[in-house]
Amino acid sequence: MKDALHNIEPGPSASHYDLAIVGAGIVGLATAREFLLRQPALRVIVLEKEPTIASQQSGHNSGVIHSGIYYAPGSLKARACVEGHQALLAFCREQGIPFELCGKVIVALDESELPRLEDLYQRGIKNGVQGLEFIEPERLRELEPYAAGIKAIHSPNTGIIDYAQVAQAYARQVQEHGGEIVTGCEVTTLTTRDAQSVLGIRQAGVVTLETEIHARYVITCGGLQSDKLSRMSGKDSQVHIVPFQRRHGTRKGRHYYDENSQVHIVPFRGDYYVLRPEKRHMLRSLIYPVPDPRFPFLGVHFTRRLDGEVWAGPNAVLAFAREGYRRWQIHPGDMWEVLSFGGFWKMAAQYWQTGLAEMYRDYVKAAYIKELQRYMPELQAADLLPGPSGVRAQALTADGRLVDDFLIQHGENVIHVQNAPSPAATSSLVIARMIFDEARRSFDPAKKVQQQSSKMRKNVLE
Ligand SMILES: Cc1cc2nc3c(=O)[nH]c(=O)nc-3n(C[C@H](O)[C@H](O)[C@H](O)COP(=O)(O)OP(=O)(O)OC[C@H]3O[C@@H](n4cnc5c(N)ncnc54)[C@H](O)[C@@H]3O)c2cc1C
Repeated sequence: MKDALHNIEPGPSASHYDLAIVGAGIVGLATAREFLLRQPALRVIVLEKEPTIASQQSGHNSGVIHSGIYYAPGSLKARACVEGHQALLAFCREQGIPFELCGKVIVALDESELPRLEDLYQRGIKNGVQGLEFIEPERLRELEPYAAGIKAIHSPNTGIIDYAQVAQAYARQVQEHGGEIVTGCEVTTLTTRDAQSVLGIRQAGVVTLETEIHARYVITCGGLQSDKLSRMSGKDSQVHIVPFQRRHGTRKGRHYYDENSQVHIVPFRGDYYVLRPEKRHMLRSLIYPVPDPRFPFLGVHFTRRLDGEVWAGPNAVLAFAREGYRRWQIHPGDMWEVLSFGGFWKMAAQYWQTGLAEMYRDYVKAAYIKELQRYMPELQAADLLPGPSGVRAQALTADGRLVDDFLIQHGENVIHVQNAPSPAATSSLVIARMIFDEARRSFDPAKKVQQQSSKMRKNVLE
């Protein structure tokens, strides 16, 4: 894949594009693909700061194809996940990408969890998830002989996949349709000049090259850096936050975001343990807990991987660096950004006990194992080896709320994907469609028609 990627030839003709997408994670690549499939004449470039594509969240996740059970009915997540699940399977079948619909169980450990399990089931039904059923302990033990639990939801259409492979397939299609993907190329500034966006870029090589790219339109899909990228647009760009639909306040328990509110990304690291090969038989598919509805994370789960490995995790602890995959990896600038944000302290005041307990479990293996044993009582500490980690980009509002739904901002010529947490990998094809539709709406044709006779405007906006 790396060989197929190429670097920009500096020079005026090569540096003008209709659309520049920042970030070659699964969302950025799906978006580039969507624009090129729907408007093949566009000159599209994808800029990625890492040496390879999908090297942050898109390459460090559980690899689960979610079916759409968890998400509030009517939310973007619910819609994008249920539709995205179908779209992803169709794409993988067409492209020959391996996946497996192994199914999963969400287990209630005691009576106190039953109302939330029932609520989840109802959500799933409302969201249109197919095949869900309540199962009793006997059926649970047939499906997962080592699982504890007094009742469970069985979701037969949940699956497993390698999202890095999916991202590579998107990238291949981008290139086949004439798009450029440039890795090792960090966007450092984003300004407007003569009705064009100007992206300052830094390319590391034998010598570091600092240059510019011009684009009529920009879409940033920066994951853990998404708030920094949106702040690059500056205050004058009249950036608005829209959770795709413009709504405000709280309605029927759902939160919407004030257009002028700032969101910051708070990185939450998740560590996995890996079962020793001789213990892999203890898991047949996927075992999930009933999640705590106060948080957007699904809780520590057991996941079988396509290659046969079994992962247990991830937990969710505050990371000391946005891209800090190791416990003691500290980035003082990232830490300062979190600690100087009022929203973080408001969240901490509410959830400090949960946060400390998560940190304790993270540093004390015995405590982590104890949590895992609640779901798989026969599991022993010796059965588990340290595994990989992932860092979630979680948007937080100034009033301390963890943003649950997908969220984008748009300005005149720019769209920023602000919050694309799980299940954004499952939903990537549908998120890309939503971004395309948002571009049609927010890249205002009426204003632009006098300013420029842009081919892009003609193609994309009409
Ligand atoms: C531990 C964990 C488990 C998960 N499990 C699942 C799961 O099982 N199923 C599921 O559907 N989802 C899961 N997710 C969520 C899913 O992985 C993410 O929602 C998805 O990968 C987000 O994709 P993205 O493209 O928005 O972000 P990313 O993959 O993070 O990509 C953003 C890219 O932007 C680049 N970038 C940032 N700033 C710049 C800049 N200035 N210039 C150039 N490039 C830049 C970054 O280097 C990065 O490559 C999980 C996530 C984590 C962390």
